[in-house]
Amino acid sequence: MATTSLVQRLARTELLAMTPYQSARRIGGSGDIWLNANESPFTNNEPAYNRYPEFQPIELIENYARYAKLDQTQVLASRGADEAIELLIRTFCVPGKDQITICTPTYGMYAISAATCNVGVNTVPLTKEWQLDPQLTDKLHDSKMVFICNPNNPTGSTLTPAQIEPIVAKLEQQCLVVVDEAYIEFSPQLTMASLIEKYDNLVVLRTLSKAFGLAGLRCGFMLSNNEVINLVKKVIAPYPIPAPVGDIAAQALSLGGVQKMSAQVAQLNKLAEQFSRRLSTLAGVETIYHSGANFILVRFNDSTWFQALGDEGIVVRNQNQVKTLENCLRFSIGNELEMNRLGDTLAKISKRKAA
Ligand code: PMP
Repeated sequence: MATTSLVQRLARTELLAMTPYQSARRIGGSGDIWLNANESPFTNNEPAYNRYPEFQPIELIENYARYAKLDQTQVLASRGADEAIELLIRTFCVPGKDQITICTPTYGMYAISAATCNVGVNTVPLTKEWQLDPQLTDKLHDSKMVFICNPNNPTGSTLTPAQIEPIVAKLEQQCLVVVDEAYIEFSPQLTMASLIEKYDNLVVLRTLSKAFGLAGLRCGFMLSNNEVINLVKKVIAPYPIPAPVGDIAAQALSLGGVQKMSAQVAQLNKLAEQFSRRLSTLAGVETIYHSGANFILVRFNDSTWFQALGDEGIVVRNQNQVKTLENCLRFSIGNELEMNRLGDTLAKISKRKAA
């Protein structure tokens, strides 16, 4: 008797038997005259873009697999981690029936993607210390997946693999655990990627938008076992990675590119520490939340700081409208000059308010 895997049980059943669209690149072939994709024979640019790109650019996948210490079959490149979030929901959740679980406050796109797919959102708030609800696994109400953002946006709070792994283990026969590691390069020791081999229900999301400095490129990754990856490959668009994106991303993931990223992360982590120390001296600053990412969440004594910074030409992220984040601002860590000006401006506002 054939046994059904967890992934097969969780996936939308109509996808299991479905043959993915056979794009010209997927069918492939060998020859020196290519007349199979209705492309133009004219090359109007240098380099030429008249041909469709590879479905998953091989050098890009090779480089990311090496960087993440995974097999190439465990890596899918997408249009940012945002697309990976939506693809997971579309692959596993039946509209109007299924739901996902999120641990709030957290990244807003999990709920938005679910809503746009008519998929329900079950919310299990984080504790006051931004830790996972100790009863999280009992509060999932048949969710197809639970999103755990680590380091978490917008709190910056972190969880250790030792905290997350028991949840993955407990849910091994029940639902997917999607660990969003968009900011993991700022706290690399916390990654769950090495556990993908061990757990069939673990999915890790990554991006080049943060530490790699390529937000404009729109390139992210889904890391999981190849059963999940192959199912998502049925749902993703035929040519999801534009050729120039694949080339630039592959370069960024070369050994030299990764070294450069690490040096920049070290610099940003240092600036974050300095900024956080400076904040701690200012009147009106109530809580500086510890962050494992390239931003710091700060609670002030009132909600006027956002406007006061805006008046000085400094744009930060207001969190005041988010439940439990009243009077909070989220500061991205910029370069030294930017952080100095931010620090000086906050000091000026603080003094003015205290006067
Ligand atoms: N996850 C988190 C936690 C994020 O903060 C972001 C970006 N704001 C994303 C995913 C999306 O990343 P990308 O730019 O790769 O779509």
